[in-house]
Amino acid sequence: MLTQCRAADDDAIRDGARLLREGALVAFPTETVYGLGANALNRNAVLSIFKAKDRPCDNPLIVHIARQEDAEELCHVTDRATLLMRAFWPGPLTLLLKKKPYIPDIVTAGLDSVAVRMPSHPVAAALILAGGVPVAAPSANRSGRPSPTTAQHVMQDLNGRIPLILDGGPSNVGVESTVLDLTAGVPRILRPGGITREQIAGMIGNTEVDSAVMRPLDPDEPALSPGMRHRHYAPRGHLTLVKGSREAAAATIRALYAAQTNACVIAHTDNLPLYNGLRVVDMGRDASTAAHNLFAILRQLDDLAVAHIFAESLPEDGMGLAVMNRLARAAAFDIVEAGP
Ligand code: AMP
Ligand code: MG
Repeated sequence: MLTQCRAADDDAIRDGARLLREGALVAFPTETVYGLGANALNRNAVLSIFKAKDRPCDNPLIVHIARQEDAEELCHVTDRATLLMRAFWPGPLTLLLKKKPYIPDIVTAGLDSVAVRMPSHPVAAALILAGGVPVAAPSANRSGRPSPTTAQHVMQDLNGRIPLILDGGPSNVGVESTVLDLTAGVPRILRPGGITREQIAGMIGNTEVDSAVMRPLDPDEPALSPGMRHRHYAPRGHLTLVKGSREAAAATIRALYAAQTNACVIAHTDNLPLYNGLRVVDMGRDASTAAHNLFAILRQLDDLAVAHIFAESLPEDGMGLAVMNRLARAAAFDIVEAGP
């Protein structure tokens, strides 16, 4: 299959909408990462997402809509959900709600909840509106790889597997949406992302972060979100995440680095001088910048065939929690405590 990558102008969006209606796949920019979309109501179209990505079928998809009221057709919208939609939609917040029957099981991996989001990126909104259908879309990467934040990243992973990529420039947020479970008692974050726990709690009060956000699941432990079980966001090189104070982490990283031949450090802008003489990339000065840069950095290190990556950590609050969740998973939970 020939993959076209086109600037996301009105013509290209119209063609993308037609492809969606015909049951084909379209990769498109969102404010979080690039998505790989299909008509959520067309079982075969959704099946082809799993094939194109090599995604395990037990990992459900987020359904994207262009108008808040369209959520009513997909799921039972609670008062809390309405509050959050008003506050954070369109934007990087995915809500898990009890599903209505006509969503195909393949979208939700047979679960009785559905994940719904209204993206704020103008190209995503225009595509979904013009398509006239809810759009099931995971990130547009091969399963397990770092999520794509540019059209070129999508091309690297899916060239020859999908007909169209809409190029809308780099994604702004850079990590995926926050997944918030509203189906049980206390609202619970299953995946931290573009809207922070603090922002959500500011609207609806007590909000938990699922413990599996920052630790691996035991083999026989049930996963509230099937995605927690899969290896994710991984570069080809081995990544080690180092926690601890600035000085202790730098000393540990320098020692680990010295024992390797083909290594690289990911460090905060302010800490770059601590790694003089080492190969080092700059993750940015704050958590939002690190989120914006992270996946592009992991792909860049793949292109350089770096074998060992040592990443500094961030405080696990605000956007820092989303960055640390991605780093911990990219590291397959190889986390070193450097001490105070
Ligand atoms: P991605 O499509 O790569 O952005 O991943 C979507 C995430 O949302 C995965 O971690 C899924 O496991 C999670 N998710 C989607 N739908 C559901 C659902 N119905 N219940 C629990 N988690 C879900
Ligand atoms: Mg993904």
